[in-house]
Amino acid sequence: MFVSFYGHVRQYRNIQAEIDANIRQVLESGEYVMGPMLRRFEGELAAYFGMKHAVGVNSGTDAIWLALMALGIGPGDECITTVNTFFATAEAIWIAGATAVFVDTDPRTNCIDPEKIEPAVTERTRAIVPVHLYGQCADMKAIRKIADRYNLLIVEDNAQAIGAHGDGFRIGELSDAVATSFIIQKNLGTFGDGGAVITNRDDVNRAVRRLRNHGSEKRSYHSFGFNSRLDDIHAGVLSAKLKYIDAWNDLRRKWAARYSAGLAQARHITLPYEKPGYRHVYHLYVIETRRPEQRDRLLKHLNDNGVDAKCHYPIAIHQQEGYPWGKPARIVGSLANSERNAACCISLPMYPELTEEEVDYVIEKVLEWDRAQG
Ligand SMILES: *Cc1c(COP(=O)(O)O)cnc(C)c1O
Repeated sequence: MFVSFYGHVRQYRNIQAEIDANIRQVLESGEYVMGPMLRRFEGELAAYFGMKHAVGVNSGTDAIWLALMALGIGPGDECITTVNTFFATAEAIWIAGATAVFVDTDPRTNCIDPEKIEPAVTERTRAIVPVHLYGQCADMKAIRKIADRYNLLIVEDNAQAIGAHGDGFRIGELSDAVATSFIIQKNLGTFGDGGAVITNRDDVNRAVRRLRNHGSEKRSYHSFGFNSRLDDIHAGVLSAKLKYIDAWNDLRRKWAARYSAGLAQARHITLPYEKPGYRHVYHLYVIETRRPEQRDRLLKHLNDNGVDAKCHYPIAIHQQEGYPWGKPARIVGSLANSERNAACCISLPMYPELTEEEVDYVIEKVLEWDRAQG
């Protein structure tokens, strides 16, 4: 048996007629950039989030830095975030010209630990960039309180958590802007790159729209900007898929529950922690070995047995070679929780199109290894 890490082609086959129809509609319209399909998808996406505005951009990475720039963040400003995330979170802060300030994560959720934020605040702090890691929201209520106390902005890195919510809060309602990614492997993914900024702020909406299109709101009139647009073909794919995102996330939750039940007796791993009242959408189902030296052995056992498990992310940002590449960066306090996460994490295959047989096979192979540890 081989259990793939991704189910992109299965997903395409399941709704191929709808995706193909939208792509054909774009092709036949003759409008491929900033056309009607993009406007339609932006409207649908804003409605899905229950927010006023959604602006399609080139990638999730661009969504983060465009949101930061739209909020006026640049050189000399500090943004507080975490190191156990996809590299792009920090990269986006640096692209905006700001200083990345890294604090530790909550050991159970692996999202930013709100208690670690306050000691990192200085006169230069302008924003907090929490990552909703693996599909579970960071504690936005606690983060909002700190932001209010110190008059900070919040940009949510929601690349992994579309469709999630917290205990009594929705994504976007407690922040200035949400950045999301549509690269194929995300819960809502297109056949290539894409992203969006979602916001209730009219000024941020307007600024991102200008920045993504050469600083232009009106043909031939420019202020400084960039080229970071979401192509209409991608908008068409995403519009077809958006209708299914809640059902797909329910399936991810179903497979997560099956993994967690099947692995409950394992003695050498820790299972993902779901916070009460939160909707975790399991972009990734990440277990941790109890000890770092066990991680590569379990990973090898799984890979050798046809289970395409991976690690997200085995090298934390501050552990990357050459860090920080001359970019402004500061670490506040110990990063022990994030470092443990990096050293012990293993992502099991997770996507809506898995089958019971595949999930049970993965469970069996993890348990086989676990029993052999004694
Ligand atoms: C994927 C991802 C990004 C970047 O999104 P791209 O669309 O690949 O640019 C940023 N942050 C996190 C947490 C991600 O998982």
